[in-house]
Amino acid sequence: MTKVPDDVLLDLRERARYFSELTDVGVPRAALARPVAAAAAPAPPSPRPPAAPVLSPEGGELRDLAAVREWVGDCRRCKLAGGRKTIVFGQGNPQARLMFVGEAPGADEDEQGLAFVGRAGQLLTDIIEKGLKMPRADVFIANVLKCRPPQNRNPEPDEILACQPFLEKQIALIRPKVLVGLGKFSAQWLFKSMEPISRLRGRVGDYDGIKVIPTFHPAYLLRNPGAKKDVWEDMKVVLRLLAEDEP
Ligand code: URA
Repeated sequence: MTKVPDDVLLDLRERARYFSELTDVGVPRAALARPVAAAAAPAPPSPRPPAAPVLSPEGGELRDLAAVREWVGDCRRCKLAGGRKTIVFGQGNPQARLMFVGEAPGADEDEQGLAFVGRAGQLLTDIIEKGLKMPRADVFIANVLKCRPPQNRNPEPDEILACQPFLEKQIALIRPKVLVGLGKFSAQWLFKSMEPISRLRGRVGDYDGIKVIPTFHPAYLLRNPGAKKDVWEDMKVVLRLLAEDEP
């Protein structure tokens, strides 16, 4: 039998431990268990707390991410509902200073109900942990779409329109300092632009007062490893922006 290398085993164990800790809304249990002040202690505060209550279109107050998840419910607002297994809400630190936004769940994510857990997710973990040198649990990861498009096809405009209120509320509650748009659909959504990712990359956008860094999608990097150096350049800008308000 082939021996699995120790570092791979360790990595798998750590991954299993991390995912087994997540609650239904994808928040690490430890973060929920900590009193708010203690949870905020390791990371400096978000750039701008919500000025006004975050409301659903129906007018109900969305106090936290769990309320947003409840509002999503067993969503049937677009045609993706019929083909999905799980709604992938997103997961991570509800007080993250850094938030990643991908495109849509793939097969692994649809199966597990968690964002970026497949091969692209592994690469995203490396970008966060080896590149940015922060635990993946410290950031928040979500997608433009919460349901998997059939055969991983591109998101369609009606699906983006139906799903976007959820991402808007997630961002409004988390108020990260920096948003990273992974790939064309996310970067275009965050920039409110139809320009190609090749033109958006290298620019710092603004989403409701939050800095936006567009970069290549990890799935693109798996096919084009030469582009990793460009992503690293983008991550250096992320680190610079995060350091800006540190004491
Ligand atoms: N690709 C995405 O854009 N999001 C995921 O969650 C997984 C793959």
